[in-house]
Amino acid sequence: KKYVYFFANGVAEGKAEMKDILGGKGANLAEMTNLGIPVPPGFTISAEVCRYYYTHGHTYPEGLKEEVEAAMKRLEQVTGKGFGDPKRPLLVSVRSGAAISMPGMMDTILNLGLNDETVEGLAKMTNNPRFAYDAYRRFLQMFGDTALGIPRSKFENALEEMKKAKGVKFDVELDANDLKKLVEIFKNIYKEENKEFPQDVYKQLWLAIEAVIKSWMSERAVKYRQIHNIREDQMLGTAVNIVAMVFGNMGENSGTGVAFTRDPNTGEKKIYGEFLPNAQGEDVVAGIRTPLPISELERLMPQTYKELVEIMDKLERHYKDMQDIEFTIEEGKLYLLQTRSGKRTSRAAIKIAVDMVHEGLITKEEAVLRVKPEDVERVLHPRFDEKERAKATVIAKGLPASPGAATGKVIFDSHKAEELGRNGEMVILVRPETSPEDVGGMAFAQGILTSRGGMTSHAAVVARGMGKPAVVGAEMIEVKEEEGFFRVNNVVVKEGDWISIDGATGEVLLGKIPTIRPMGLEGEIAELLKWADEIRRLGVRANADIPRDADVARRFGAEGIGLCRTEHMFFEKDRIPKMRKMIVAKTKEEREKALNELLPLQKEDFKGLFRIMAGYPVTIRLIDPPLHEFLPQDDEQIEATARELGMSAKELKDIVESLKELNPMLGHRGCRLTITYPEIAIMQTKAIIGAAIELKKEENIDVIPEIMIPLVGHVNELVYMKKIIKEVADQMIKEAGVQIEYKIGTMIEVPRACVTADEIAKEAEFFSFGTNDLTQMTFAFSRDDIGKFLPEYLQKGILEHDPFKTLDYEGVGKLVEMATQKGKQARSNLKVGVCGEHGGDPRSIRFFHKAGLDYVSCSPYRVPIARLAAAQAAL
Ligand code: PEP
Ligand code: MG
Repeated sequence: KKYVYFFANGVAEGKAEMKDILGGKGANLAEMTNLGIPVPPGFTISAEVCRYYYTHGHTYPEGLKEEVEAAMKRLEQVTGKGFGDPKRPLLVSVRSGAAISMPGMMDTILNLGLNDETVEGLAKMTNNPRFAYDAYRRFLQMFGDTALGIPRSKFENALEEMKKAKGVKFDVELDANDLKKLVEIFKNIYKEENKEFPQDVYKQLWLAIEAVIKSWMSERAVKYRQIHNIREDQMLGTAVNIVAMVFGNMGENSGTGVAFTRDPNTGEKKIYGEFLPNAQGEDVVAGIRTPLPISELERLMPQTYKELVEIMDKLERHYKDMQDIEFTIEEGKLYLLQTRSGKRTSRAAIKIAVDMVHEGLITKEEAVLRVKPEDVERVLHPRFDEKERAKATVIAKGLPASPGAATGKVIFDSHKAEELGRNGEMVILVRPETSPEDVGGMAFAQGILTSRGGMTSHAAVVARGMGKPAVVGAEMIEVKEEEGFFRVNNVVVKEGDWISIDGATGEVLLGKIPTIRPMGLEGEIAELLKWADEIRRLGVRANADIPRDADVARRFGAEGIGLCRTEHMFFEKDRIPKMRKMIVAKTKEEREKALNELLPLQKEDFKGLFRIMAGYPVTIRLIDPPLHEFLPQDDEQIEATARELGMSAKELKDIVESLKELNPMLGHRGCRLTITYPEIAIMQTKAIIGAAIELKKEENIDVIPEIMIPLVGHVNELVYMKKIIKEVADQMIKEAGVQIEYKIGTMIEVPRACVTADEIAKEAEFFSFGTNDLTQMTFAFSRDDIGKFLPEYLQKGILEHDPFKTLDYEGVGKLVEMATQKGKQARSNLKVGVCGEHGGDPRSIRFFHKAGLDYVSCSPYRVPIARLAAAQAAL
């Protein structure tokens, strides 16, 4: 079996399609080699070795050792150098690379192959002792840290001390002798830590390989996979890339950098990146020295820049996606060290996908598949209320690393930020810089602010990936983490104080600034969603109770209302007293009187909705919650309400008492309520049909009302209600002499309704799955109390998702499938939708598409997400 894949001089054994075994980095190094792009020679140890290692008691497969050694020999041949050769030493980098890119998660070791002898050889070979000893001390540091677990700070402190003693500020100001001394000090650190630095280069190599493989299971890698929902049982493993070193720190005509083929923030088509002259790769990523914008490279080395631009263009056309590359220039010669699909903000993701369709690089379908539903969600995220923002004080400005508006309390410690964030508090994580240890805190913060680092620093890259607003490198901020405050000039901001950050401008503002949400779609996202509409089969409607929401829903592309919860209208200030009068009525006459007062108000509500949804269906659900929800519960409020209603407190209290139920969600609600009090349903029918008639007559607006009965479990409940509603509606329409088409249907939210869906479909003209109640009743999980144990269920792996968020395919989903089939068999033109929360969840939408539903209905802000998800489900 083959475990090692070699690449050199335009010929590679691997290719881009082999990501599963070569990892992203290895596969792309091979692909670039085959494309004739200058890549230093090297080889990749396949991820199967990592898998083998973890399933075979931390051992390697047979033959691996020989294969690696043979590959090293080949590498010696093509480079004309020798591994461990004191005259012409071959040095290599050892880097991880999994199939899914996990930036900053795995470890890299550079300059491997240096020891007390080869360092001398390197010095002679390059005629540059300073360079050689600098490379050696870097290697000692990286190897000690990543392969042997010696704390990085030990080395850093020693370096700082050396610089202090010499009275210099930058590493580059240390000379060869200083670095030579530093090497001795570093070796002593190994001794103090009881670790042996191997002079044998093959020992170095195998320790480094093992370190890479071990880093796959490091705490931070595991955490990254958790956050990004990469399951451990899909055990992908990491490959190990061993590549001949090229040096960006050989003087002023050398350098290293990273670049994107398009702007990862805005998506704009222009090269975007950073460059550090006379530096080695980790200097850029670690944010130790502040890099120059890529345009500086054009100024300093125009020829090399031109070559870089051509290569980047070639790569983008080849991969048909925005690329993120690493490059090194060794004495004027350009090398590509890596290419991958670049991480980008949601806004950029949408723009790039749409632009690439226009450029003829990808199809509309590909564009629709490329944008994630979360991207759509994020670009519709809140922005600062401009008026409020204008009043706030800007205290600092950093780099606009990841766009979006965020406001929260200042927290310096990542663990604390994570804890508070989990408890629903809004926090801004403020750090000098971030490292993989901070990822948990970043995930739960509203936004991230750092005082150091550039646009490609850890904080910037990770925040963009998470879609979190971030401002980085705000250098005027002095973070006093231990003392619990940060300072800008003479402004002191303490932990717990509110600040706001604008990731699009880089501004840091004092205080809590309210945010507002965009009210419509324009530009690229509108275009992308139009393509999605051409592709999808599922209709997308909105859950909306008031005209404002219906209006947002229309702007976002909703094709009707799938659920209007009429009870919400009764809670409004001018309604609730009338509603209460109705509830406390002792006779039917009294109740009808109170209902008659509600009727004109409710009719106006419906007219408002119908007007906005002209020509589209509007599903109106009759009253659903138990009546006690409309009455006050505590004594003081009961007294006040009793006074308003002109009754004694005792009387009202008795009524409140009489309405109490042990299980109100399984109690006197839904159709059970209107079966007891048909006059409520009659009033609501009059309001619905009356509104439709008036709009038709007065404004010639066509309305398609769908009257929906909630909580039906037995067909007879529906039969009973339908008869009452139909009588009232038909009578009104006849009297009005206009043509109104209306439908009567039912929610399917009780398991019994699913099981008897064929019976029910004989009576219902449409179904709408109430997956909130259906999930509640299928699992017997209270939807209001599940928080008590759900976290444990998720953590212990009993459930994979919150079933109230993502439909439970195997249980609740089976009921949905069955009811849809039975229903459509019994009535071929039965319209079937869903209006529970799941109607806006992409994973659930995929299921509804497959189950043959006709539409989903979700909250107005999720309509664009649902449009995209529905299209993706169809592809
Ligand atoms: C449902 O149960 O899924 C539903 C849409 O109704 P409600 O959330 O109002 O109970
Ligand atoms: Mg319900």
